[in-house]
Amino acid sequence: MGNQIQSVRGFSDLLPEQTHVWRHVEGVLTGVLARYGYEEIRLPQLEKTELFSRTIGEVTDIVEKEMYTFEDRNGDSLSLRPEGTAGCVRACLQHGLLHNQQPRLWYMGSMFRHERPQKGRLRQFHQIGAEVFGLAGPDVDAELIAMTARMLRELGLDHVRLQLNSLGTPEARARYREALVEYLSGHRERLDEDSRRRLDTNPLRILDSKNSDTQDLLDGAPALRDYLDADSVAHFRQLCNLLEQAGVAYEVNPRLVRGLDYYGRTVFEWVTDRLGAQGTVCAGGRYDALVEQLGGKPTSAIGFALGLERLVALVEEAGGVPARPAADLYLVLVGEEASAPGLMLAEQLRDALPGLRVQMHCGGGSFKSQFKRADRSGARYALVLAADELAAGTVSIKNLRADEPQHTVPRDELPALLGAAFAEQEGG
Ligand code: ATP
Ligand code: MG
Repeated sequence: MGNQIQSVRGFSDLLPEQTHVWRHVEGVLTGVLARYGYEEIRLPQLEKTELFSRTIGEVTDIVEKEMYTFEDRNGDSLSLRPEGTAGCVRACLQHGLLHNQQPRLWYMGSMFRHERPQKGRLRQFHQIGAEVFGLAGPDVDAELIAMTARMLRELGLDHVRLQLNSLGTPEARARYREALVEYLSGHRERLDEDSRRRLDTNPLRILDSKNSDTQDLLDGAPALRDYLDADSVAHFRQLCNLLEQAGVAYEVNPRLVRGLDYYGRTVFEWVTDRLGAQGTVCAGGRYDALVEQLGGKPTSAIGFALGLERLVALVEEAGGVPARPAADLYLVLVGEEASAPGLMLAEQLRDALPGLRVQMHCGGGSFKSQFKRADRSGARYALVLAADELAAGTVSIKNLRADEPQHTVPRDELPALLGAAFAEQEGG
């Protein structure tokens, strides 16, 4: 036992006690997506490295130090996807989904980033993401954000706050970048090593530094909003207006920037204080330049991704988790002769009562030990096939959750009887 193989650091297993919570969360989210007219797209987890370096940006944290990149046996540089948007755009272009169409798409699955694992931060993590193409907004921005609000609401999370900002056009950002660099260069000694490095590579990212001294310094910095172009200002104002009319509360966070280079104009995050430093559960924005950057025609686009680990943690904390499902019926089969009739009865019950979970005892054993398992399965009834029942074509029923005498009925009456018993439970 000393040298058992363990999972890779930052890659975790989801055990049955967790997967039912995940299914619940995924069910709520994909249900909402369907109600807004979004369709699923399934994408590979592995892409050419160039796809990410060209889109996310060479000097972003993700591409600089977080990607799982390797050469395959042909010598091609490949990377496990660190996010879903680039692959989604690649697929849309490759399959011509953007010709005279405005697809609304969603995807779900694993993403990979070599970060320091901690609560809410893994190396393999999971996102549900959505992307809309061909619509310039701000109407679609507002609808998409309202959809994320509904997702969180329907998961019972009322404490997550929406933060909103506009990044303007690339030109506006370039002008702002210059002003910010000029200001911060005058205070270089007050910046930490990370921010100093970013000053040369990706200065806008300094705006969301977690260092409080840096944040104090930024109080005196030029503000992005003063550098925005008139169209972006109008777009942002209309978006705010639409959200207000739709009753979606938001805060403008002028320092909200995103860690990926392709964003412009609308950006947003849903944040909470309940997850420590890993407080962002959903992040997204507009990326009108990306399709063209990947060789397509200029195409407006907006999207977001939700972090499932963080959402599941919040849902568990909020107590909005349905109980882990248990068996409804447990089939106790005494003696080898009971195997075939038992298998037939179990199949017959699954045909007749598709809503019920029927667990058939396998592996033999004494009546007593089988009953113990029946009890532990959580089933409401044990059904018994032993010598007497086999001879008479009957089955015995024992209520495991109430003190009722065991009774015996003809086997073909069983589906109707159980159907009625469980319907009564549902009703009552
Ligand atoms: P953070 O600032 O927390 O690192 P990010 O800006 O890098 O997040 P995005 O690339 O915008 O994250 O991904 C969208 C969402 O995916 C995040 O808001 C978060 O909920 C989730 N997420 C990102 N990285 C991880 C990770 N390593 N482990 C778990 N969830 C993650
Ligand atoms: Mg990150």
